[in-house]
Amino acid sequence: MKLTDISTIKTLFEKHGFSFTKSLGQNFLINPTVCPKIAEMGGAAKGVGAIEIGTGIGVLTRELASRCDKVVAIEIDTGLKPILDETLEEFDNVEVIFADVMETDLAKLIGEKFGGMDVIVCANLPYYITSPVIMKLLEEKLPIKAITVMVQLEAADRICAAVGSRECGAITASINYYAKPKKLFRVNRGSFMPSPNVDSAVISLERYENPPYKVDNEELFFEVIRQAFSQRRKQLANPVSAYFRLPKAVLTEQMEKRGISPTARAEELAMDKLVSLYEIVKELKG
Ligand code: SAM
Repeated sequence: MKLTDISTIKTLFEKHGFSFTKSLGQNFLINPTVCPKIAEMGGAAKGVGAIEIGTGIGVLTRELASRCDKVVAIEIDTGLKPILDETLEEFDNVEVIFADVMETDLAKLIGEKFGGMDVIVCANLPYYITSPVIMKLLEEKLPIKAITVMVQLEAADRICAAVGSRECGAITASINYYAKPKKLFRVNRGSFMPSPNVDSAVISLERYENPPYKVDNEELFFEVIRQAFSQRRKQLANPVSAYFRLPKAVLTEQMEKRGISPTARAEELAMDKLVSLYEIVKELKG
């Protein structure tokens, strides 16, 4: 069954009365070269278990299932069930869970479904929850070997930018705290049905075994990052002092003491300086 073939897809849709839900980020892959590449580069292999987020009609699911020992796929749209029953029929190593990934207890799922296998995550992510899904995968400290996901090109560029560069955003710094992001390859908009208005890219996130930075209150650290980047082209002392109700003069004095210019913008700070900024806020908040 060739799920990148447009007439095959249309036949499946007609047979099962399926139509796209745009708000769920349903842009399905129709370029036959992309899914095998995601699976290979994502580490799909014998002895490995894969989690997929968002099956669509199962085009990537099949590539994962033919390489891995087991695939657990999470899909929110139950309207895809009759299609998936057909497209995944030949695989006895695939389980599709119809649920919202953001509401899914992934630690429990991994413990229950994969019996000690190495676990990877491969997905063509729904664009509207790219950052929350990635942060969930990282923040929950799941025992995952590799994360390989397709995101919109702009998000890929933002995520893979250097912390402390003009392209860096709050998501860049937050992800870099846990993992090293890498852009693997670009996928043009014509590779999807329906075709979106932008290109995409596949990225990998390699979680640090020994994280270079460690903070004792990650929630506060990410809030400091969010606030610092809330007006990223402007001086960060303004939003940070306002949000945490700290006198600006005291904050800037402490920033200077730790080698951060009082007029610094968040996009100018490397990771060590963002950690220093967090420490200052933590101390001043008492
Ligand atoms: N993997 C398929 C492909 O590459 O053709 C589909 C990818 S499509 C970009 C994203 C998929 O994620 C859709 O099938 C959509 O229904 C599903 N989805 C959207 N929001 C979701 C959520 N919160 N939890 C689980 N799946 C979701």
